[in-house]
Amino acid sequence: MSNINPCPADASRSATATPRPFRVYTQRDLDRIGAIRHLPADRRFAMKVVSSVLPFRVNEYVIENLIDWDDVPDDPIFQLTFPQPDMLTPSDFSRVADLLRRRASDSELNAEVARIRAALNPHPAGQLELNVPRLPNGDVVNGIQHKYRETVLFFPSQGQTCHAYCTFCFRWAQFVGDRDLRIATNEAGKLHSYLRAQKCVTDLLITGGDPMVMKTKHLAAYLEPLLHPEFDHIRTIRIGTKALSFWPYRFAADADSDALLALLERLVSAGKHVAVMAHFNHWRELDTAICEQAVKRLRDAGAHLRSQGPVLAHINDLPEVWAILWRRQVQLGIAPYYAFVERDTGAHGYFKLPLMRAWEIYREAVQQVSGLARTARGPSMSTGPGKVEVQGVADVAGERVFVLRFLQGRNPDWVNRPFFARFDAEATWLDDLEPAFGERRFFFEEEYENRWLGAAA
Ligand SMILES: *Cc1c(COP(=O)(O)O)cnc(C)c1O
Ligand code: SF4
Repeated sequence: MSNINPCPADASRSATATPRPFRVYTQRDLDRIGAIRHLPADRRFAMKVVSSVLPFRVNEYVIENLIDWDDVPDDPIFQLTFPQPDMLTPSDFSRVADLLRRRASDSELNAEVARIRAALNPHPAGQLELNVPRLPNGDVVNGIQHKYRETVLFFPSQGQTCHAYCTFCFRWAQFVGDRDLRIATNEAGKLHSYLRAQKCVTDLLITGGDPMVMKTKHLAAYLEPLLHPEFDHIRTIRIGTKALSFWPYRFAADADSDALLALLERLVSAGKHVAVMAHFNHWRELDTAICEQAVKRLRDAGAHLRSQGPVLAHINDLPEVWAILWRRQVQLGIAPYYAFVERDTGAHGYFKLPLMRAWEIYREAVQQVSGLARTARGPSMSTGPGKVEVQGVADVAGERVFVLRFLQGRNPDWVNRPFFARFDAEATWLDDLEPAFGERRFFFEEEYENRWLGAAA
């Protein structure tokens, strides 16, 4: 931007960037994406096969500004957004490939695709059964999850998509069109009734998909009423988003960007803590002028930025990538918050890393940065009982163990109690682990089964 502002004192916000039309491509448009035309035909066919099963969506900003096409297929942002042949098992892949090659009927293809999807653990960690709350009158509140005492998750129906899709998405099932798998609501009234009655809730976390795909006026319908004194107990409004990575124009150049920042500013002035929980997977996502500008505008509006994202094979499985990411985030004013273990769903087989490796990456990254960039906790597994952090590997009295702790627990009393699992070099999730020191069960298991799993059955 070369505009020289004649009156800088008047510039209450940094200059708005040039608007950019939002052009998006899905499975049907694969052949229209110029950038992939030069890729080998078998790779393009593989994209069709994989995107018949897993959601695919990418936009022109990601294609033109984030992917280094000279480095494809290894480019991390290409891996993050474009379907790769090994994201399905060889047998699933060849079945879908055969159906496409012989132009099978829609019903035949759909049946096979539905079977494969159902086997990819579409709702990990009991998301649907265990966390859906009820109003005092007994009505089920769709679109809300209330798992940890302080924090309510809300899934607004207009926000159940993203500006592009991550190939590892843990919420992929919501995007593939099966109504049964959606956990959204458009009823602001139900959200507000629920929050009004829940005085121990301090944090509302608006999530998706990506709530930042919503028009500002929709977001305002959910958020403005929280300024009323009956919601004084809601101290923090968190917005989970990947728009800083996939569409930073949302904050700097869209038609209602200014209205969005003004909305956040009103919440901040009224005393709410507004937290943008930014999903990042690689420092390259931060590396554009428009992303920097978006971060600056959010900070100028008084929002706090925190970052989170999973550790993934093919995308960010080197300590240096995390070290650079965290350093740049701190520089820009984004506090690293969580590093996750990739959940066992969708293309998990492609992205998974042994817990041991995820911990090594985390530890070696932390060692390379200053204390201000060491604020990300992890690697953390979002499991049914809670968020379980791998604190490390230790040798205790001749036994090699994982040292674990809850960062969040269904029972708050579980949090921060160290517990121990037998070391297993291949384990990728809590389910793979056994208690150490000859114990039969982990300390929380019986209570979890009785109070939560039993109650849902
Ligand atoms: C992570 C998470 C939260 C928020 O936990 P914090 O530790 O407060 O960030 C809330 N609900 C669910 C279901 C979560 O997975
Ligand atoms: S931004 Fe989040 S919800 Fe959207 S595709 Fe990526 S992981 Fe899924």
